[in-house]
Amino acid sequence: MSSVERSPKPFRDAEERRAPFRVAHLFGVYYNTAMHTSVSTRTICCKVALDSAADAALRATQQAFNRAASYCAAVAWEQKITNKNKLHTSVYGPTRATYGLGAQLACCARDRAAEAVRRARQDQCATCPTFCDDNSIRYDARTYRLMSLDRVSLNTMSGRVVGQLVLGDFQRRTLYDTSWTIGGAELVRRANVWYLHVAQTKADPEPDEPTGVLGVDLGLVNLATDSDGEQYRGAQVQQIRARRFNHRRRLQQANTRRARWRLRQLAGKEARFQKHTNRVISKKLVQKAKQQRKALALEDLKGIRERATVRRNQRRQRASWAFFQLRQFVSYKAQRDGVPVRFVDPRDTSRRCSCCGYTAKHNRRNQSSFVCRSCGAAANVDVNAAVNISRIAVNQPHCAAPDTSGGASTKPPPLGVRLFTQKRQQ
Ligand SMILES: [Zn+2]
Repeated sequence: MSSVERSPKPFRDAEERRAPFRVAHLFGVYYNTAMHTSVSTRTICCKVALDSAADAALRATQQAFNRAASYCAAVAWEQKITNKNKLHTSVYGPTRATYGLGAQLACCARDRAAEAVRRARQDQCATCPTFCDDNSIRYDARTYRLMSLDRVSLNTMSGRVVGQLVLGDFQRRTLYDTSWTIGGAELVRRANVWYLHVAQTKADPEPDEPTGVLGVDLGLVNLATDSDGEQYRGAQVQQIRARRFNHRRRLQQANTRRARWRLRQLAGKEARFQKHTNRVISKKLVQKAKQQRKALALEDLKGIRERATVRRNQRRQRASWAFFQLRQFVSYKAQRDGVPVRFVDPRDTSRRCSCCGYTAKHNRRNQSSFVCRSCGAAANVDVNAAVNISRIAVNQPHCAAPDTSGGASTKPPPLGVRLFTQKRQQ
């Protein structure tokens, strides 16, 4: 039962009214001075203790709710409707009559169906989405209510039931944090235990005008290195992962029933370990950028796996770390804390000298040391790359800081770039 944080997205119901934000989101622009409409969402997962009568009522409601949602989705799919209001007129009556849902729960089932169909159309799915009987129940402001003493009141087909939220310190603090607005919730049953996932939203703070850019290089030896030279969790993570990899290989070779079961367990463990590590690193990076009032610059996702300089025995590690997740975590935490994020093309960032701009493969002595063949500057490979990334971000015209926008192209190129051009001409 931990708080599950999701990437930020606008209120779903208000999506139509937020078209400008959606466009900005589409292009990965998280920083905009002209308008300020972005919203962060987080979800808090709480265990719900219920007596047996309430449990039975919820199970019955769960089944009816999901069958009703499947029915609504089928209608929407057949009649090519994705608008909730249009769908309402054709499904509301039958939903209530056939499945015995109350007025509000019928609307929630309709909403879920409409959203699923819309998503399926967007993804160009060939089949209509359906919902299993043990899928979650959606609750909105009118169908559930948080009460005093950590209780929650939930709508069911047979009236309201009251459950007791089982909260730890962290969950209580997060749930009752008044700077966040409580929205809808999903009621989930896992292994006969009910969990309420409460969504909260908060308008993102106006980003500070950045005073510089903190470049971040993602890599193998150090998962992240910033342009100040700070490195985040390198050797220790690698050690743990190497040990686990060997363990997995032994199990794969054994290939007994028990070994296969153990492998499934380990897969979950590895995923949780990566997620935790990514959370820690992204939090540190965003906090540092916020303190220094800087923007964050990361390499574009494509660069991570396509870089040619990964040695054969390191390919496994390079391919298996969840860098995409790390980037996502950095993005949403930065948006929530008002830190602008920029993505840059990482080409040559590990080969170019951050002092003089000379680019060559043999600048890189080995995994960790970089010595420029032109000016002799020596640095750590990752730090050098992080400095290059921050430079590129500063020079990217569309990402220029708001106070210098328009001026970026008229300024002379920085020292590194100018010298780099001269080198090429020689
Ligand atoms: Zn150099």
